[in-house]
Amino acid sequence: MKLKLHITKNKNLKDYQTGKYIRFAITDLEISKNYPENFVTILPKQIQTTAKIKSNFVKKYKNESVKIAIKLLKQELNATDDQDIKNEIRERLKILNPKPKKLVKCNKCGRDFQARKFGYRTQKICYECVSKRYLNQS
Ligand SMILES: [Zn+2]
Repeated sequence: MKLKLHITKNKNLKDYQTGKYIRFAITDLEISKNYPENFVTILPKQIQTTAKIKSNFVKKYKNESVKIAIKLLKQELNATDDQDIKNEIRERLKILNPKPKKLVKCNKCGRDFQARKFGYRTQKICYECVSKRYLNQS
């Protein structure tokens, strides 16, 4: 399996179809060097591995879907000089990359945890240490 994106622009679409103006196809260079013989499936814009109705892409690559998509998109972002395609790739990468959660080190036990903000103050002690403290007091 040697996957590569095959990106095509279709300028003859009507206005309401702008979202489909650039088409991302997954190809496998081990099948053939030529398109469309090496066509595997379309890379959808949103990759929902937990959705009930799965795209062919997700059916094929399952839990690896997002990882494969990000890798191929990044590879193509460096390879292309086309601004429209670069913009579309960046937009897709933004959708695929989940925002990193803000982790804070607990002042008591030193473990990383997801801190909540209270106005300007951020929680400094993890939930476990907080609940332990309450237990010790009682
Ligand atoms: Zn703690």
